[in-house]
Amino acid sequence: MKTPPFKLFQPTTIEEAIEISSGFIQNNEQFDWIAGGTDLLPNYKWHLNTKPNVISLALIEDLFHLDSNHIGAMVRLHDLANFEDTHSIIRKAAASIASVLIRQSGTVGGNIALDTRCFWYNQAEEWRRSIDWCHKCDCDTSADCRVIANQNELCVATYQADLAPSLMVLNAQIHLCGPDGSRNMPLSEFFELDGIKRNVLKQGEIITHLTISEDANNWKGDYQKLSLRDSWDFPEAGVAAAWRYSAQSPDDGLDLRIATTALESIPRLHDNITNDALINKSTIDEIAIKLRLDVKPVNNTTFPPNYRKKMVEVLCKKALDGLKGELT
Ligand SMILES: Cc1cc2nc3c(=O)[nH]c(=O)nc-3n(C[C@H](O)[C@H](O)[C@H](O)COP(=O)(O)OP(=O)(O)OC[C@H]3O[C@@H](n4cnc5c(N)ncnc54)[C@H](O)[C@@H]3O)c2cc1C
Ligand code: SF4
Repeated sequence: MKTPPFKLFQPTTIEEAIEISSGFIQNNEQFDWIAGGTDLLPNYKWHLNTKPNVISLALIEDLFHLDSNHIGAMVRLHDLANFEDTHSIIRKAAASIASVLIRQSGTVGGNIALDTRCFWYNQAEEWRRSIDWCHKCDCDTSADCRVIANQNELCVATYQADLAPSLMVLNAQIHLCGPDGSRNMPLSEFFELDGIKRNVLKQGEIITHLTISEDANNWKGDYQKLSLRDSWDFPEAGVAAAWRYSAQSPDDGLDLRIATTALESIPRLHDNITNDALINKSTIDEIAIKLRLDVKPVNNTTFPPNYRKKMVEVLCKKALDGLKGELT
């Protein structure tokens, strides 16, 4: 399959990148950002919502900075996984992504902003034509969603990136820059339910970096992932958990956070479950059951939704294994 032609722009500063994107917005021209290209380029080959202009972030030095509290958007997943100051939960999630080769090109920003996936959409053009398309790439046919019928407004494609939950349980902030200036927010507020819009990024806006709070090292935890093949597959379910002991916590010193990925169109923090668990002194088994009941996968990835839900319970118990003795 041939990649359709596009014009490539290679700014060397954030300001220049925003200037180029602002120009496209003013002229009503479509464009995409590209980082490592490990997802965007395969999607272009499959003719999935391609754009005539692509702006590369690969020459912007400011986006490559990495230290224990600051992760630049262009930091390669391989470097993040192998940097000794990276928090162990993030290292484990980063090391689980794809293969060594892909991790050496794939970036943190590209992983966070990863397009949502669905087996009716991530297919060759001929395949999609044979089913008369779907809402996410409808080729001007007003095709319906193939997963939830009789509505062509909301795409429920699944967010299948690994990094977000490990960053969410460490309370990461995401930093954005665009034509209207810079802003930041908790990563848990970055994602949007519609699988086409995906997140709060406005036109012309980029992720510049993520920050992790100074107290992250007081938190311990784990990331557990279900995938078809360990060697390089997207997650079919992912659970990150983090805990710490502090004088201000509701349950005699224990704080707990759990986040999931690959189960819905957004990764999600489950504060409702962890707050309730601490107040009611729930066991690990009880927390895992509540998490299974809280996630709502749909039928658009390799494994069926019911199996993924059951596996969430298993992954949650494994992720909380370090708390055995504290929670029964
Ligand atoms: C075989 C295979 C296996 C894979 N397995 C996994 C897996 O197990 N887990 C997983 O999480 N991923 C997996 N991936 C997906 C992908 O490789 C990674 O998620 C990678 O981190 C994407 O980063 P990238 O820099 O290559 O993104 P790109 O392909 O360059 O971009 C991805 C998207 O993010 C946008 N984007 C990139 N950077 C920015 C930025 N700074 N600001 C705003 N938007 C931005 C792009 O416009 C594009 O929409 C796999 C891919 C392949 C091909
Ligand atoms: S969830 Fe529906 S609209 Fe979205 S990609 Fe799948 S079939 Fe298409």
